[in-house]
Amino acid sequence: MLRAPVRAFLDEALRGMAPEQRARSWVSFDAEFSKELGRRGWIGLTLPKKYGGGGRSLFARFVLAEELLRAGAPAGAHWIADRQSAPHILKFGTPAQAEFYLPRICRAEAFFCIGMSEPGSGSDLASVRTRAAHTSRGWQLDGQKIWTTNAHRSHYMIALVRTSGDARSRQKGLSQIIIDLSLPGIRIRPIADMTGDSHLCEVFFDNVQLSEDALIGAESDGWRQVTSELAHERSGPERIYSSVVLFDEWLKYLRTKGNPSERSLSLAGRILSTMTVLRSLSLAVNGCLAEGQSPVVEAALAKDMGTTLEQLIPEIVADALGDDPSAVLPESLVNTLRYISQVSPSFSLRGGTREVLRGMIARGLGLR
Ligand SMILES: Cc1cc2nc3c(=O)[nH]c(=O)nc-3n(C[C@H](O)[C@H](O)[C@H](O)COP(=O)(O)OP(=O)(O)OC[C@H]3O[C@@H](n4cnc5c(N)ncnc54)[C@H](O)[C@@H]3O)c2cc1C
Repeated sequence: MLRAPVRAFLDEALRGMAPEQRARSWVSFDAEFSKELGRRGWIGLTLPKKYGGGGRSLFARFVLAEELLRAGAPAGAHWIADRQSAPHILKFGTPAQAEFYLPRICRAEAFFCIGMSEPGSGSDLASVRTRAAHTSRGWQLDGQKIWTTNAHRSHYMIALVRTSGDARSRQKGLSQIIIDLSLPGIRIRPIADMTGDSHLCEVFFDNVQLSEDALIGAESDGWRQVTSELAHERSGPERIYSSVVLFDEWLKYLRTKGNPSERSLSLAGRILSTMTVLRSLSLAVNGCLAEGQSPVVEAALAKDMGTTLEQLIPEIVADALGDDPSAVLPESLVNTLRYISQVSPSFSLRGGTREVLRGMIARGLGLR
């Protein structure tokens, strides 16, 4: 019942949008588009109604996310707030924090970014050095984050910071805080990526004064909290569908051209069957989250296998197109292939690298 109206709306709203633009999907930032989704009640679907949410299940959100990704909707403005910041605030925040942030997230008036990585602390998150020192007025923040997606367009960051000890204390002494990115002492510098897009950022904190209620959850409980947040970040359908617009464009080309080769059909079948299995896996992890579990290892597995497929799609499509060098290819297909080929190496980096996830899976299996 949810899928049909979402699909109808997207067909209309995205009509005429170039496929290489749609391929950017959940990293593409369009505040007005997000506001329209908010007006339709399609942000914060799983949040309680008293906070402006939809009171629906995680499976309803899965359907919605799947439709947005399938269509390549420019959903990046609210994506992180909707996927992880809002459920995180609901789970670990105070009622006052929930009342302050959640209704605005649902209306697409508060966009969030993720402040985990730092120079020298990407995979090794326990070594973060950005520090929030407790003062008589609240917290004083100093340090730097990096690779923060859309920091320059977001209102808030949920950051993992050190509130006691030092880098050698590892997981101990880490906490999570919500940072209002408009505060004095914050400097945000976008970084251009290989495609020419600039959604990644460096964020510098210099003597930033935060109020007492910037802390989310308990002090020194940041490691447990961030691990739970990462299960939301890693398990969703965006770890399967990052290349789906390219797959669609290729199928469209094969259909228009007619008479596809056996090899193309078999490659398309391989992509589709793998995608179907991964969708079941992602749904199963969603089921664990819906039951209130924290499926950290399962989410790592879903992400690792999902991003492997996402990276395989541009390779398969490029190889298949290369079989017929004299074919005249539609410009939109070539542009989409170019964009996805350039960006796909990042799929197995963002949200935790492949090697690190495999280490977690091995530990989960009792192999290390
Ligand atoms: C597109 C994109 C968006 C991102 N958005 C955000 C964001 O919004 N917020 C945020 O906080 N971060 C973000 N990141 C950062 C991302 O989470 C980190 O890049 C990632 O965690 C890796 O950290 P690093 O770059 O420091 O690499 P490093 O940790 O230095 O890793 C370098 C290499 O060493 C390997 N390696 C490291 N440790 C181990 C180990 N123990 N065992 C085996 N191999 C290992 C890694 O797999 C990798 O291949 C983003 C990254 C990308 C590419």
